[in-house]
Parts: sequence; structure tokens; C-alpha cells
Amino acid sequence: MRRISPNIHAEIYYWGCNPGFLTTSDGVFMVDTPQQPIDAVRWRERIAAHGTPKYLVNTEPHGDHIMGNAYFPGVEVIGHRLMLPRYEETIPRMESPERAEQTKQMDPDSVWLLNHPDFPPNPPTRLFDDELTVRLGSHTVQMIHMPGHTKPQTAVFFPEEGVVFPGDNVFHRVKTFIQEGDPWEWLGALKRLDALDIETIVPGHGEPCGKDYLPRQAEIIEAWIGVVEGFVDRGMSEEEAAKQPLPKVDPYPIGQRLYAITESLDVRIVTNLHRQIMARRANS
Ligand SMILES: [Zn+2]
Repeated sequence: MRRISPNIHAEIYYWGCNPGFLTTSDGVFMVDTPQQPIDAVRWRERIAAHGTPKYLVNTEPHGDHIMGNAYFPGVEVIGHRLMLPRYEETIPRMESPERAEQTKQMDPDSVWLLNHPDFPPNPPTRLFDDELTVRLGSHTVQMIHMPGHTKPQTAVFFPEEGVVFPGDNVFHRVKTFIQEGDPWEWLGALKRLDALDIETIVPGHGEPCGKDYLPRQAEIIEAWIGVVEGFVDRGMSEEEAAKQPLPKVDPYPIGQRLYAITESLDVRIVTNLHRQIMARRANS
């Protein structure tokens, strides 16, 4: 566990995302949860030493950020309005035999915690549209809707600490996942992150970084857009584009054991960007 600022800690090395929390005089405010059940209960123990968790916000609907919610029963979960249907769609996958089998193979310590009656799904119940500000102790927490990597994408800004958690709108020196979402909205979100008064970004994946990484993140997204625009300009269909050999547009490796979809990831990125580019051209 890493101390990020006077009152914020985060874990950078779990399988899945980087969860974090703020300690206040009135309890703990959590951001995202570890995807592996055993990590989630370990995380709960770490947090208990700092206070009682009062709130949990999910930055995005992907499993690696929300599957651990179940291990924090009774904690009020905050999320963008579009988070709730996405969470509900993920429940069958969380409870599936495939996940149980994968857990047996890759994380046996977690097996006894899967589908445990004490830990039912814990979806967001406090929903917001553009922005939500919560006061806890003497701290302010600002949830800001910043669509990009996903539609419900939320940046969690701690102004007194100079820290933001943008979820996967920032992949710091690990491979950028653009398998869904609007890349131009994402570039806009990076500009909005740059305008925040912060010293530290705790990315969805990778080591904490500063604003100086934001232009690098933008370059990777722009490079992907450029490659797929080239395919569209040559008249390729989605299927044809997905079969093209790709130049190396992203120099970074997959982070945090997310390799399960490594092989299909590039195809999913090309497919998503092809759709986004076609839609944008149809509207212009
Ligand atoms: Zn993620």
C-alpha cells in the first residue's frame, strides 16, 4: 500500500485496478475495489486500521473496478447514473461458473469467497449525472463525470489533497484499453484533468504519476485514432480493418495481470474505433 498524500492511500499491485481511500475524522472514503475476493477482504483489513468506510465510489463499470464492491456490505456506493445498469449486467459474470473455474486455476485463495451469502452484489445506489460533491470530516470529495474510456467514467477529485483518481482515463506506462468509449471524449477528459489543481494522479492502472504524463496518454489515443482512420480512408469494413497488421502504437505492456484478453484486445480496439470514426463521419 502506497501513501499518496497526507490522507490518501492506494494499492498499486493488486490484480486489477488501483483502489484507494481517503482517511477523514468522520470515516473513510473509498475509490474502487480490488477485483479478486481475497484481495478485497485484505483491503478491507488495511482500511479498518484507518477508520470505518462510509462511502465507496466506482470510477467505471469494468469488472476490475467493481467486482470487489460485494466485500464492503453496508458501505454506501456512489456512481454515475449509467453505472447502475452496467453493474447489473456484470452480476451474471461475477457469479458465473466460468469465473469460479478461472478462480480455482489462478487464485485458489479466493474460491471460498465467491458467491458467499454474506457478500451479495453491492451496486451503486447514490447516482449522479454531471457532478456530485460529498463532505466527510473536514474533506471535500468531488465526483466529476468525464466520459472517455467508458460512458459513465468518473474522476474522483480530492482538492485538499491535490489528488485525482480518473479510473482508466489514465493508464500510466501500461497498455491503454480503448475497447469501448469515445476517443475524442477521452481526449477532452484529459484536458479537464489537466485543468484540475492536483499534484498526483492515481491512474486506473500503473504507478501514480503527474500531469506531465497526460500529453503522452493523449498521444497514444491519437495514434490509435490515426491508424484506424487510415483503414477507414482506404474503404475497409470493420471486419477488414480488424484483420490488418498493426504498427506498434502503444509501447507499453499490459498491466496488473489483465492479460486474459491480451490477444483479442487490439482487435477490440480497432473494432471500437472503426465504429466511432464511422459514426463521427456520418454526423459531420
Ligand atoms: Zn481497469
